[in-house]
Amino acid sequence: MNANLQLMKFGGTSVGNAECIRRAAEIIMRAAREVPVVAVVSAMGGVTNQLIEAAQASAAGDLDAAGKLAEKLRQQHQEAIEILIDDGDKRAQLSAELKEIIEEVTSLCRGTALLRELTPRALDAISSAGERLSARLLASALRELGLKAVAVEATELIVTDNRSGRAEPMMAETRERATARLAPLLAEGSVPVVTGFIGATVDGKLTTLGRGGSDYSATILGAALDATEIIIWTDVDGVLTADPRLVPEARTLQEISYNEAAELAYFGAKVLHPKTLRPVSEAGIPVWIRNSFLPEQTGTKITETGHPTRRGVKAITAMTNVTLITVGGRGIVGVPGVAAKTFTAAANAEANVLLISQSSSGNDICFIIDSGDAARTVAELRAAFAFDLAHKEVEHVNVNADIAIVAVVGERMRGMPGIAGRIFNALGRRGINIIAIAQGSSECNVSLVVEAALMREVVQALHGEFGLERRASRFESVEDGSALASV
Ligand code: ADP
Ligand code: ASP
Ligand code: MG
Repeated sequence: MNANLQLMKFGGTSVGNAECIRRAAEIIMRAAREVPVVAVVSAMGGVTNQLIEAAQASAAGDLDAAGKLAEKLRQQHQEAIEILIDDGDKRAQLSAELKEIIEEVTSLCRGTALLRELTPRALDAISSAGERLSARLLASALRELGLKAVAVEATELIVTDNRSGRAEPMMAETRERATARLAPLLAEGSVPVVTGFIGATVDGKLTTLGRGGSDYSATILGAALDATEIIIWTDVDGVLTADPRLVPEARTLQEISYNEAAELAYFGAKVLHPKTLRPVSEAGIPVWIRNSFLPEQTGTKITETGHPTRRGVKAITAMTNVTLITVGGRGIVGVPGVAAKTFTAAANAEANVLLISQSSSGNDICFIIDSGDAARTVAELRAAFAFDLAHKEVEHVNVNADIAIVAVVGERMRGMPGIAGRIFNALGRRGINIIAIAQGSSECNVSLVVEAALMREVVQALHGEFGLERRASRFESVEDGSALASV
């Protein structure tokens, strides 16, 4: 419907204070001179954490948490208002609007503290306040620059299922609502500034899409509105060959494929929410990751094919806060149904299973889940195997939370022999033990489980082994000696 529509998302750091908000507004203004723009915005940096912490403290009975939260929110947002908005009346009006949201969230925390109970729905409502505040701030900052801009609640646009804290979009309904609400605004030349992270069920109950979910909001809306491109503005130059906090020499990737980006996001590259690429890959809408602090940099482009280099390994990623669960014992050798029972138990616990591995003798099934799902999953497993445990058919359900997953990612690793060998060698030389290993059937990644304390060393070792600090070229080939190290 929208020829040339650009969808721009700004992350928490990119709207972290008045200066950042102004910079974001200027980026939008420059684009909006040329094409229609829809902006999606995260909460100001740190705000969602504050909201969730206050909600949890309230649930534990802390009656002061609400008041303290209100003061912090008021201070952080008021400071930005003072700097961004010149006109006294406009400033007062915006302050009043934000005050209303802060009061709403404060009463929810107070209610939680009195009841000593935090329902998933209350947590959704409390944790979504940051985006409701920042969208109004950014829209006002845009109006200060002379643009027509309107803050829009994503509850009016993104229709989701009922799952609190990790809602999934219903795309047909979202397309309908988003078009109906935003097309008239775009037609009159306005920039809608939409709250990231938030959606609502068909009957209007607010939901959230999971931590870091504003990236997902951006691609959901981009797909729903047939955007020409989506630009995710963040605090790094693009998708790097590794998290720069782990590998200082990590390099920005010029172009990667949807599959590569999805694997990286899935295995912990925080720069993208794990589900970001889902809504856009089928439609082939390109997604850019760019640095809002250095908008002159080109960033990373995510496309169907990625950059046509022969390099196999593109990036290394790592993930902590995960738990390895092992179900095993001699008794399970050749016993049918153990795997089914294990994963039914994990499914009953609604655990997010990240990686599965089984020893060749069939003695052990091990899998990895988010640590937050571990207690529930173990309880389900112990119940499911109660009889087998009592009769020593299954000898143990073991839990190890002291691990990390490190994934080696690259679409062209497919069919390329020797990569696993090089991984084993590089880690073997350093005396690093690999607890488990798995290769996705897409051959787009090899993932390793290692001791958590060794994660940084493993990522650095593999980054060096595959020469990722060096630039890959279109002409890189197996005959080229320098490229050999990285193919
Ligand atoms: P935003 O607030 O803009 O959503 P995030 O903090 O969620 O930003 O994501 C950006 C961060 O992701 C970067 O600062 C970086 O530390 C981290 N990161 C992890 N892995 C990668 C990677 N492979 N490439 C780029 N950044 C990464
Ligand atoms: N503000 C939300 C969070 O911190 C969503 C986001 O930033 O993407 O998780
Ligand atoms: Mg993020």
